Amino acid sequence: MKVGIIGSGMVGATAAYAMVMRGVGREIVLVDVNKERAQAEADDILHAAPFAHAINVHAGDYNELADSKVIVVTAGANQRTGETRLQLLGRNASVFKQIIPSILEYAPNAILLITTNPVDIMTHLAARMVGEHKLPPRNVIGSGTTLDTARFRALLGRKVGVDPYHIHGYVIGEHGDSEVFAWSLAAVGGIPMEEFCKHQNVDLCGPAREEIEQKVRRAAYAIIEGKGATYYGIGSALSRIVEAILKDQRTILTICKPESEVAGVKDVTVALPHLVGGQGVISSFPLPLNDREQSLLHASAAVVRKAIEQLDAEVS
Ligand code: NAD
Repeated sequence: MKVGIIGSGMVGATAAYAMVMRGVGREIVLVDVNKERAQAEADDILHAAPFAHAINVHAGDYNELADSKVIVVTAGANQRTGETRLQLLGRNASVFKQIIPSILEYAPNAILLITTNPVDIMTHLAARMVGEHKLPPRNVIGSGTTLDTARFRALLGRKVGVDPYHIHGYVIGEHGDSEVFAWSLAAVGGIPMEEFCKHQNVDLCGPAREEIEQKVRRAAYAIIEGKGATYYGIGSALSRIVEAILKDQRTILTICKPESEVAGVKDVTVALPHLVGGQGVISSFPLPLNDREQSLLHASAAVVRKAIEQLDAEVS
């Protein structure tokens, strides 16, 4: 199966590399406005295939995206040091006006997986553009808080001394400063987290939780400060989402998609856990959040809704 990646910078190239390491897909096409970069990344990643999986990685133009099952969109400007994801919005909205119509011309039936930040708003925008082309907006999903959820599970796993595979916990809402940690639903090996911690004598009281939240919330800022960009975590997350779709795995992932209402906020795109498989999102289910988490989710969805309205006001 063919996967397209638009934008072969740090995130796009790392996603392609992760797919080759994991054996996701049969062919990967890298498209970038910087053709030399796309060619160089494709060649470099192809040379890793003999050590992992026989996937044909090559650079190409939009016409080579025909018959792709999934197209990952990572093109756009990156967050500058100290810049919030929302500040990126205007710069990346104009990039999407160029690339989404070109994708739809050659691969109208592909599932678009948006990663470009601010990812919630860019996903909302892409779904709207797809709708304007009379194609189903449900074909558009965003990576949402898949990465934040992975960061949460990794830190929680380290704290309680358990493989993060056995940690269940969701970060939902905006992929950004207002994201919400669903602590009330966190579990270790099926045991509610509080019970597990009590039994194992692990301190996960207020300050310990706050520390984990801060580390997850500030992760992108800290990594960008240290090395200029984040890409291993998100590249792996993208590879995992694409795998769930190509192999129709029915995996629960905190991706984002346009929602008619989230916690009282209408027409918004934020991350929630969804069942993901061959057709993209198969179904969604309500989370039994506590009152505090529900009101934090409302606030987070309102942040994204406001940014969508600001963008609309600028355009009109
Ligand atoms: P990068 O600068 O390394 O790569 C971006 C690539 O996009 C470049 O190669 C550039 O040439 C290409 N590009 C720009 N305009 C284009 C166009 N019109 N058509 C085709 N290609 C175009 O940046 P990066 O580190 O790879 O980050 C990419 C995006 O991913 C950023 O918006 C970043 O904020 C986002 N990101 C999202 C998450 C997440 O969890 N959603 C995590 C990390 C990064």
